Amino acid sequence: MRACVLTEYGEPLSIRSVDDPSPTPDGVVVRVEACGICRSDWHAWQGHGEWADDRVSRGQILGHEPAGTVVETGERVHAYEVGDRVAVPFNLGDGSCPRCLSGHGNRCVDGSALGFSSDAPGAFAERVHVPHAEYNLLALPDGVDPVDVAALGCRFMTAYHALAHRVSPEPGSWVAVHGCGGVGLSALSVARAAGHRTVAVDIREEALALAGDVGATVTVDATAECVVDRIHEVTGEGADVSLDALGRAETCRNSVRCVRPGGTHVQVGLTTDAERGEVSLPTDWMTRWEVSFVGSRGMPPTRYDELFGLVESGAVSPETLVTREVALDDVSDRLAAMTDYGTVGVEVVTTF
Ligand SMILES: [Zn+2]
Ligand SMILES: [Zn+2]
Repeated sequence: MRACVLTEYGEPLSIRSVDDPSPTPDGVVVRVEACGICRSDWHAWQGHGEWADDRVSRGQILGHEPAGTVVETGERVHAYEVGDRVAVPFNLGDGSCPRCLSGHGNRCVDGSALGFSSDAPGAFAERVHVPHAEYNLLALPDGVDPVDVAALGCRFMTAYHALAHRVSPEPGSWVAVHGCGGVGLSALSVARAAGHRTVAVDIREEALALAGDVGATVTVDATAECVVDRIHEVTGEGADVSLDALGRAETCRNSVRCVRPGGTHVQVGLTTDAERGEVSLPTDWMTRWEVSFVGSRGMPPTRYDELFGLVESGAVSPETLVTREVALDDVSDRLAAMTDYGTVGVEVVTTF
């Protein structure tokens, strides 16, 4: 099959022919019909994550936001069969440890990350293998299109888990979102669907326009005004919840500083090689005002039905974030465009 392989950090990815995957006894093979391109792919391509022992190895097939159709099943898989339409979360659990069994599969220590771990080749390929399929696979509801699902994961599910499970603001709360890329725009739509008021922050006009399209109450251009002052002015005493969807020192600190006393900052974006995994924070101020710092990553596979319910009811529309459908051969160019924040919304590979 054709697959998109990371051969050297920052160099064009190699489109090459590799062996088709075959299923482990509890795994399945999925024919990929759509796979979103994400800033996490860009981080992997840049060789980031070394500081957290999380650098993707050369030789990895990237791609972690797939949807498609089951084409082969392992002998112990009974819940899925050939022809089933499925989505695959990137955070794959082993399905059997205490964390997986208690509903926190995204924290599985023995799990793997699709398209990042060397034991989980990714989905910028014609086919992808899903281990522990009965735990990890998600059956697509009728009428939900693979392209929409590729737009859902990982950004939408990450945003949903952050705002529905890691923090649960009261309806009507003020939610600030720093960085209006895929995950930021998703967070704005999730927050709107939950009845919150939102402030969207970015430095790009097109991104702020898209934020307006998904229902941001107020948009703030960080090149033109002081983000923290403006959010305090808009919200009265600060945001109830603020989310850093980008992962730069400045967006992280702005997000912490813009919350109200007793408010919560949620970190979703991973840092770049400028921060190398560490950002200094106003800890005395956070202590004085009892501000919480919460980390959030992916979403447990066991909670996808909540998100599919929102899509089916029309409360959120991930397809509105899709700005471009591309071919496997274009992935390198699209990742390169992310270096200068040259992509807007969500781009999805649909031609393999
Ligand atoms: Zn586990
Ligand atoms: Zn992603």
